[in-house]
Amino acid sequence: MSLLEAPAFTGARLLVDLDAVAANTRTLAASTRAAVMAVVKADGFGHGAAAMARTALAAGASSLGVTSIAEAFELRAAGITAPILSWLNPVGADFSEAVAAGIELAVPSLAHLAAMPAGAHIHLHLDTGMARDGAEPHAWAALCQAARQADVQVAGVMSHLGCADSPADPANAAALAAFEGGVAVARRAGLRPRVRHLAATAATLTAPATHFDLVRVGAGLAGIDPSGTVALRGALTLKAPIVSVRRVRAGTPVGYGHTWHAPCDTSLGLLPVGYADGLPRLAGAGAQVQVRGHRQPVAGRISMDQTVVDLGDLPVAAGECVTVFGPGDGGEPTVADWARWAATIPHEIVTGLGSRLSRHTVGGAEL
Ligand SMILES: *Cc1c(COP(=O)(O)O)cnc(C)c1O
Repeated sequence: MSLLEAPAFTGARLLVDLDAVAANTRTLAASTRAAVMAVVKADGFGHGAAAMARTALAAGASSLGVTSIAEAFELRAAGITAPILSWLNPVGADFSEAVAAGIELAVPSLAHLAAMPAGAHIHLHLDTGMARDGAEPHAWAALCQAARQADVQVAGVMSHLGCADSPADPANAAALAAFEGGVAVARRAGLRPRVRHLAATAATLTAPATHFDLVRVGAGLAGIDPSGTVALRGALTLKAPIVSVRRVRAGTPVGYGHTWHAPCDTSLGLLPVGYADGLPRLAGAGAQVQVRGHRQPVAGRISMDQTVVDLGDLPVAAGECVTVFGPGDGGEPTVADWARWAATIPHEIVTGLGSRLSRHTVGGAEL
């Protein structure tokens, strides 16, 4: 056998369900009268940026959002011609190349404005209370006036909410007021932004007053509802084969640090996935996988490449597949479960999945 005729891959498989992404897009689009920008940063939240972009565009999104211009170039290289906004780049980024590729750019400062090539379509970005990205409020009026003088098209004004996953937090009303004030300042400077945009997934689902002309949704496409109010569908399923099974006596220590001991005589199954593949080491205590329809606990610490599962007395053979997580309708753990076990948010689980997993796309027949 030559190296080119590699055997079929039999390791862990990550299935990406594009029909779930399409259904989530439709749910999000139905919750607003604003246009929908599909945010496909971080490789489409780990789902594959181009596939997620095409799916969302076919299901009701009208534009794409990414962090860096490198991510935008990747979408263009995949043949995607839809409008793209890139909002986080250093002043020295290749903005000319971006403008030539029809990529719109967020501008958070005078230094960024000065770096814009002639004719750039820009979105002025105001900080409304996160002290993260966006112009500081005291610098906003000067930025608007400079943009009015510059050889650019001010297509939009944008900001981002820091507390939208807690709809009752007073910071949301303050941010909304700051945004409306910022838009008024832009208009007084003579700017006529076509799109005002503030809401991401959580506010799209819970705060219609924040929708303006456009909502930017990312997590929701991936089935993550930070507001906890809407049933969205998880699009990822991770399956792993059992490499080996061993029978151990009660008290047998398992894994690094011997943090787990078999509570009784039991069978242990070895999975070829670990924290290098994105299963958080912190999740070890409490985490479960689904074996033959049963939830079985992870035994001991998750290693870099390996995870041990307590199979109890299930008659499982090496070679069988377990479900590490999925949408949850078959009783399997979900991404949200893994996030809870690791004391984090689902976003970190889906964007942390390793490149070693073999990825397979299912659904998306309309593409
Ligand atoms: C990631 C991001 C979004 C999308 O947020 P979700 O909560 O994932 O929908 C929107 N806007 C900005 C500026 C972002 O960084």
